[in-house]
Amino acid sequence: MKKRGMKIIIALVLFLVAIIINFNNVWVNNIIYIISYIIVGFDIIKKAIRNITRGKVFDENFLMTVATIGAFGIGEFPEAVAVMLFYQVGELFQSYAVDKSRKSISSLMDIRPDFANVERSGKLEKVDPEDVKIGEIIVVKPGEKIPLDGSVVEGSSSLDTKALTGEALPRSVVEGDEVLSGCINAQSVIKIKVTKKYGESTVSKILDLVENASSRKSKSENFITKFAKYYTPIVVIIAVFLAILPTFIIKDAVFSDWLYRALSFLVVSCPCALVISIPLSFFGGIGGASKMGVLIKGSNYLEAIANTEIIVFDKTGTLTEGVFEVQKIKSIGMSEQELLQIAAYTENYSNHPISLSIKKAYNKEIDEKRIAEAQELPGRGIVAKIDNQEVLVGNEKLMNEKNIKFSKCDDIGTILYVAINGNFVGYIVISDKIRKDSIKAISDLKKNHIRRTVMLTGDKKEVGENIAKQLGIDTVYTELLPDGKVEKVEELLKEKSERGKLVFVGDGINDAPVLAVSDIGIAMGGLGADAAIEAADVVLMTDEPSKIVDAIHLSKKTMGIVKQNIIFAILIKILVLILSALGISTMWEAVFADVGVSIIAIINALRVLKIRNCSIDTRKEI
Ligand code: ADP
Ligand code: MG
Repeated sequence: MKKRGMKIIIALVLFLVAIIINFNNVWVNNIIYIISYIIVGFDIIKKAIRNITRGKVFDENFLMTVATIGAFGIGEFPEAVAVMLFYQVGELFQSYAVDKSRKSISSLMDIRPDFANVERSGKLEKVDPEDVKIGEIIVVKPGEKIPLDGSVVEGSSSLDTKALTGEALPRSVVEGDEVLSGCINAQSVIKIKVTKKYGESTVSKILDLVENASSRKSKSENFITKFAKYYTPIVVIIAVFLAILPTFIIKDAVFSDWLYRALSFLVVSCPCALVISIPLSFFGGIGGASKMGVLIKGSNYLEAIANTEIIVFDKTGTLTEGVFEVQKIKSIGMSEQELLQIAAYTENYSNHPISLSIKKAYNKEIDEKRIAEAQELPGRGIVAKIDNQEVLVGNEKLMNEKNIKFSKCDDIGTILYVAINGNFVGYIVISDKIRKDSIKAISDLKKNHIRRTVMLTGDKKEVGENIAKQLGIDTVYTELLPDGKVEKVEELLKEKSERGKLVFVGDGINDAPVLAVSDIGIAMGGLGADAAIEAADVVLMTDEPSKIVDAIHLSKKTMGIVKQNIIFAILIKILVLILSALGISTMWEAVFADVGVSIIAIINALRVLKIRNCSIDTRKEI
């Protein structure tokens, strides 16, 4: 990008020198124009030729090349350079936009390994993971990321796979086990024999996925591509007719006049304003959203949010703070502190908001040697072996499933029943707070005519219904396991209209699959799991559901601006095309019309960024 910027500046300086100083010798001027043209236009000509050899003849590179070389042909040197210069400035804008959004998304996922320690001729070398070959031995120390996929050849350790899977439980590996790049080595030094090159390793595949977000084009952008596909050949054919036919039909017609008209027709025909301003509007929208703390992974999602019809929320960690507090401990045959201790040990490896609260209440060092085989049963609880005793911590469902006789507790809140070796030993009541922001979010969504608000939860009926009532949610489904949530969302997807979109908002704990099946998946970025951030299309960095309303506003404004630009650019374009075909406008006027339309469209596009400012200001006033 820097290179392109430099080229533009050098070419522009040369161009201005030729225009302003205007050397008396025409040849000196012309040579300067040609040099400046080659500097700025060489890439485009190269691309045009390459695309012709690939069968894609009529693209904008072709238009630019034919029109500008034609302009040279009829002696209009400055026009040729000006058109190319302007076009390149537009391209620069575009690549800047793409680059910026890519960076912000990939910095979110801190899984890129910076180096690999390779054993080469008995010594350890720190190299770029890309330079490691298959079959080489790498050494990964505790705390380091595994840079490439491979299998363990020496040592054993425990891996933190959270960044890849969202699964909080550590995975222990021994000699012979396969390991994936992107995991963090949590325990002791291991030696790994590399089985995949960096480019094919898990970590670089995931990064690719995320970084290509900006290539997920919106319908409006696809419209432009399609439009250009028909538009360009039509324009070229008209230009050819315009150059040739009149000399046969009209008496006294001068060929060079009509060739000039045909070429300026081609210059005007370049859909620059559309090509630049539409992606720029989306970029403005995505950029504006990211400043509000809403990360949108593609223009298609920004476009879709405006059509939100049904919005489905997960409860724990999404509408509620996900910060539980232990309210009451009831133990049978042991002290309350002992019950809390055994629960904390069982919950040790889980990252569920419930587990965090238990560990916080226990607030003592946990001796991990006493824990074996901890297993999380999503939507139900945890089973673990503590001091060789089987401990269950979870909801009624878990107790029923394992045939445990227990006495039901009717307190308001989430109840965790605890059983040791099949015997019920007590329960812990914890409660979560509704996010202050959730109430505002739901009422604002209703004001914005969202047809239906829904809440899904794995929690008990009483708790779910109570919270839904406080928030004013239309429908609530409770006691759902993770696949139950997917089923409900699939049912709701059938209910919406064809154009309408279903948005799911979750924290990624027990709901990452739902994020993936919904039209638009929105994840809580602060509290949410990395897997959610990966599966989601939109990430709320500040965990405030009301930001969705801001995103809907932003999306609507962006779409309004995009439509204005499309209509405005096409109308002006048609007008100038007619004028240049009639020979009323010169090539200079054609270039200026094009520049003018593009600048107005760009300024219009930049209004999206202004929306951001006022929305932040009104926030402060509240
Ligand atoms: P939500 O759908 O509200 O986000 P989850 O699906 O994450 O909630 O969990 C549903 C229920 O499953 C919880 O209310 C709790 O009873 C039980 N549960 C889930 N994970 C755990 C855990 N780590 N420890 C104890 N109970 C759990
Ligand atoms: Mg949840």
